Amino acid sequence: MELIPLPAFSDNYIWLLHDGQRALVVDPGQAQPVLDALAARPALRLEGILITHHHADHTGGVAQLREATQAQVWGPALERVPEPLLRVQQGQRLQAAGFDFEVLDVPGHTAGHIAFYSADVLGQPLLFCGDTLFSGGCGRLFEGTPAQMLHSLDQLAALPDTTRVCCTHEYTLSNLRFARAVEPGNAALLDYQARCEALRAQSLPTLPSNMALERAINPFLRSREASVIQGLQAHDADTHAGDAIDVFARLREWKNTFQ
Ligand SMILES: [Zn+2]
Ligand SMILES: [Zn+2]
Repeated sequence: MELIPLPAFSDNYIWLLHDGQRALVVDPGQAQPVLDALAARPALRLEGILITHHHADHTGGVAQLREATQAQVWGPALERVPEPLLRVQQGQRLQAAGFDFEVLDVPGHTAGHIAFYSADVLGQPLLFCGDTLFSGGCGRLFEGTPAQMLHSLDQLAALPDTTRVCCTHEYTLSNLRFARAVEPGNAALLDYQARCEALRAQSLPTLPSNMALERAINPFLRSREASVIQGLQAHDADTHAGDAIDVFARLREWKNTFQ
């Protein structure tokens, strides 16, 4: 079994998961990186394509890949994504390229965003979360409300500690700069930032992350922590500390304008 982030565009990853013979990819915004990866591994057959949401940088390569490989496509029940595909939503299970996944509805970044979770891929849980959860951050709220996004992130944060978190973008360093502004006293965050800087200096991915780490360093999973609320209040004195949705909304707004 191998889990490989294939770089696409300037900062996307198309996740490739395979068992040596059967393969699936997640959010192929471009076909070529996947076709190149398959050509380099002639034993692999692409059998599945998973789509988390409708944005073009997650779906642009789907039609070409389906034509080239006849792979089955699964995607969100409620979004405009290229047909044909099997539409799935919360609680549904699917088997792609021999791997079992459960579908989670995680609206916020888009209205119908879904995530794919497997409790056991070679002994460890695995999450493909698209643009909902990033390492050290979360997606922008293009279509959903802060309440929806907070609920979606709470659902992801409840997954096991060892869950490998496979996000679609390499945004980690810029997210961690913001996280440090929110929580300057978080030692785990400082340590993680140093490790990620070393990886990026060698052009290596910072992903996958894991859920225990994200709960320790990601301000958007920590918006109920006193240290996060304190950091936010220093920036935005109108924050209602007792209102989790207000805190989350203001945290996300701060990040939108953070340089
Ligand atoms: Zn997106
Ligand atoms: Zn994206």
